Amino acid sequence: MIKRINHIGVAVKDLGISTALFNALFAQSSPHVESVPQQQADIAFYPVGESSIELIASTSGTSSISKFIEKRGEGIHHLCLEVDDINAEIARLKEAGFQFVNDQRSEGGDGYWVAFLHPKSTNGVLIELCEKMK
Ligand code: ZN
Repeated sequence: MIKRINHIGVAVKDLGISTALFNALFAQSSPHVESVPQQQADIAFYPVGESSIELIASTSGTSSISKFIEKRGEGIHHLCLEVDDINAEIARLKEAGFQFVNDQRSEGGDGYWVAFLHPKSTNGVLIELCEKMK
């Protein structure tokens, strides 16, 4: 079951410059920041009600974020939908004909399992599914 929009991911070139900008936007100075080596990225979260804005900066010239910024520039990168059972949702969506970037869930940031639906099968929108690790 899909529960809520967990966050909206925004690809940025420089996390330092962008956190300064978003600190001013949100009138706060201490976003939750962490490295996600599996995704070759550093991320910063700004809570907004029950959701967050996630700034994502690449830590490698070959990461998917790096390629995204090369092609399209900085901007909205993905929507993340929180689900109660990620393996069940992956199975359900594959059965319904959706394509995934990877076949299995992987470890995302902030204690979540994640999986990405390929934008080819979702109207050009990269959709991340996430489930809080228990
Ligand atoms: Zn995300």
